[in-house]
Amino acid sequence: MNKTVSFVTDNFNKYDGLNIKKYIEIGGFSGLKKLIEKGPDFVISELKETGLRGRGGAAYPTWKKWDMGKKRIAKDKYILCNADEGEPGTFKDRELLDKDPYSVLEGMIIAGITIGSVKGYIYIREEYPNIQDKVAKCIENARNEGVLGESVLGTDYSFDIELYTGAGAYICGEGSALIESMEGKSGRPRNKPPRIGTKGFMQVPTMVNNVETFSYVTAILRYGSEEYANYGTSESKGTKLISLSGNIKNPGMYEVPFGVTFYDVIYTIGGGMKSDSPFKFLQLGGVSGPIMQKYILNTPITYENTSAYGLPIGSGAITVGDETNNVVEFLLGVQKFFVHESCGKCTPCREGNIQLKQLLLKLNDGTITEEEVIRIERISNTMKIASLCGLGQTAPTAILSVIRYFTNDVYKKVGFHVDFDGDLVKHYLENMKIDMSQIKLKYTEFEY
Ligand code: SF4
Repeated sequence: MNKTVSFVTDNFNKYDGLNIKKYIEIGGFSGLKKLIEKGPDFVISELKETGLRGRGGAAYPTWKKWDMGKKRIAKDKYILCNADEGEPGTFKDRELLDKDPYSVLEGMIIAGITIGSVKGYIYIREEYPNIQDKVAKCIENARNEGVLGESVLGTDYSFDIELYTGAGAYICGEGSALIESMEGKSGRPRNKPPRIGTKGFMQVPTMVNNVETFSYVTAILRYGSEEYANYGTSESKGTKLISLSGNIKNPGMYEVPFGVTFYDVIYTIGGGMKSDSPFKFLQLGGVSGPIMQKYILNTPITYENTSAYGLPIGSGAITVGDETNNVVEFLLGVQKFFVHESCGKCTPCREGNIQLKQLLLKLNDGTITEEEVIRIERISNTMKIASLCGLGQTAPTAILSVIRYFTNDVYKKVGFHVDFDGDLVKHYLENMKIDMSQIKLKYTEFEY
């Protein structure tokens, strides 16, 4: 199996990301033309065939979301592209918008015509000013070319796109917070129901997808669902964009087929550790993901493998640390991020994150007591259950994983053993049917 492929990234470096005539020359808007020729039901069935899931992190089946959007009866409907890519270690949306922005716009037009919407918005984060300028020019070019506007490609379909920019808040990656921000309010999640699919921007039903999802829709329509299914596994068809960072020789964004292992990504693609120091841990899916030990390396990256063990692929970020990195210090950095980014609307997240940071400071300087370590777990569990949105619910994931899997690191800091759930690692290995002796053998071969 090839470790890196070009399906959704096929247009990269074939044009400058601005020249719309060049985009058309290399096959641009052929997905849109296919929709015009075959109709919206064809789009839904192609997406169903591929099993494409939303690439913003939630992994909801795209065809289901689009089918619901299509069936919803409303005077107006909006399409919203979430380009508020604020997850630390994630930069694939920036790459897509820089190297192939028209494929994202094309995906939005396809979505609009499929569900019966004439207006779309793209919300780009504050920290990407160059991308904002580029996308604004692309929208203008698309209008001039007759791809956007009252008569899309000379048909009776209308669709236009407006650009919004964020103000630098991580929480605006959450759909309803993003919409609050677009409406000029403080970017905080709404209470649900109603969901934004029913009452979104300006109370109009709004279908939100991530940048990467729109790009995949364009590529799937262009090349066909069968071509997509040539990659990946039977349950996780296709490819995924991975943002690889940390102490790695070749950090960057890569397109990989589902089924490659973490080892493939880190060693074969990433070139292994930057220093001579051995691999120690990886964090999967951004700061809200778990921090895992080397046992994870032989696991194939598929939805079925990762979800079975509570490891969300999320945005596809993989951050790598080696033996020179102290996992507790790394964790402290993660926790400071959450304290800064909690919007403060609900108590478990607002207060819980602050308390966790204080306890982690004590853990890091070795002054924490056994009772306080237990309190970490209690606060974390409360946050998971009682926080209003995904930020608070997932903020303690990294902490809980470190307490469970990095017993030696924690022990070195505090000087006593706490009640770690060591069974989880065993359970993980047993269920993956991984033979520990093989892993050790492979480690001798692979690394260090
Ligand atoms: S969980 Fe955190 S980010 Fe979400 S609403 Fe509550 S305070 Fe805000």
